[in-house]
Amino acid sequence: MAEQYNLEQLKKDLEEAIVQADILKIFDYLLTIAVEEGASDIHIEPFENYSRIRIRIDGVLYELIQYPKQIHESIIAKFKIESWQMRPDEKRVPQDARVSAITLTGKEVDLRANTLPTVWGEKLVMRIVDKSKKIPPLNALGIEGSNEEILFRNLDSPTGIILTTGPTGSGKTTTLYSALSYLNKVEVNITTYEDPVENKMDWLNQSQIRSDIGYTFAAWLRAALRQDPDIIMVWEIRDWETLDTAMEAAMTWHLVFSTIHTNSAAETLTRVINLGAKPYMIAGTFNLVMAQRLARKICQECKEEYSLKEENPKVYKWIVEALSSMGPALATELQKRGIDPQRLKEGVFFRPKKDGCPESCGGKQFKGRIWIYEMMEYTDELKEQILKGSSWFEVEKFALAKGMINLERDAIFKALQGHIPPDEIYRLVKHKDYSAVIKMQW
Ligand SMILES: [Zn+2]
Repeated sequence: MAEQYNLEQLKKDLEEAIVQADILKIFDYLLTIAVEEGASDIHIEPFENYSRIRIRIDGVLYELIQYPKQIHESIIAKFKIESWQMRPDEKRVPQDARVSAITLTGKEVDLRANTLPTVWGEKLVMRIVDKSKKIPPLNALGIEGSNEEILFRNLDSPTGIILTTGPTGSGKTTTLYSALSYLNKVEVNITTYEDPVENKMDWLNQSQIRSDIGYTFAAWLRAALRQDPDIIMVWEIRDWETLDTAMEAAMTWHLVFSTIHTNSAAETLTRVINLGAKPYMIAGTFNLVMAQRLARKICQECKEEYSLKEENPKVYKWIVEALSSMGPALATELQKRGIDPQRLKEGVFFRPKKDGCPESCGGKQFKGRIWIYEMMEYTDELKEQILKGSSWFEVEKFALAKGMINLERDAIFKALQGHIPPDEIYRLVKHKDYSAVIKMQW
């Protein structure tokens, strides 16, 4: 029977199970806490004199508990036996397993587990796929102002290529699924190529590729195009073959979605040219390239206002410069997003309260996440730049002067709205580092 979730009680139960070295109970409590706290990963790691368990919530690792080194080996061994896919006696090489589990609160999850031999013993990491999690609607992703207009305008197009780019963990899958879900109607046929299929949807024709038996990307595409598709999603453009077929599909009246590995929307240009695309092909098929990041959201219950202008004039100056280069588009953008221009002028921003609050964020200062988006729309004037043979840098400069919302600008608007603190923008966009490890303040 599903139990009521109580974090404090479960933490006590977990400690108790560790004292008693009751391995099965340790896993039950640990998994339940991780899933209920919305964690994406569990790390069980040994050191010289102790072991610890950390969980990743909203992109950041928190320490859950430390325990005596003596029981570490039996914890890992027990997991290997229960998984049925790992050899408990083999400790010298990494091993993988996929298992289904159920929490004490009755939630079904899939775990992708792997071990790694370290000098202090084996480390076990489990990625949690919560099957009860729904794809958020497109309007819940924080796509606002002119970005929102651009996205919906391009989703309405029956043909062309829409790409999203960003590092692992920036929510590209969510963006693509949300877009496909928005486009999903009885009248359209949506076919996807995924490797692997992570979330099975009952409204999509998802194909799991099996290169080992000859079911390759090319084989899938030939078959998929005969299946009368309107919309095609290819998980990632990695090579010329994929890019070429994606462009071909777009030219033959299909809307094509995919992801690509670059730092920004503009840099995608160099990437596709390096893969072999000619400027005229890009101009003829590309509609929209997005870049995205996932940021931690300040706890809305305990956030506080402060003057950035007084406390950190350097960052304030940088913010003003990033926005004023938008020219006349700035005033319109502020208005579309419902931001008082006075707030920017006075430099009033929000930051998390020291030690957070017990009610909402449980002392973590942040709660939930928010997406940061950059949208480069392939307008006629942008295509002219590309056909002229401009570099990605020149194309980006051109688009920015026309008021394109890049990652920096979107993050700044979201800081003005109180979703992220200004120093977080710096961390996210300037240094491209989002893996800070902070102590859990439970
Ligand atoms: Zn709070």
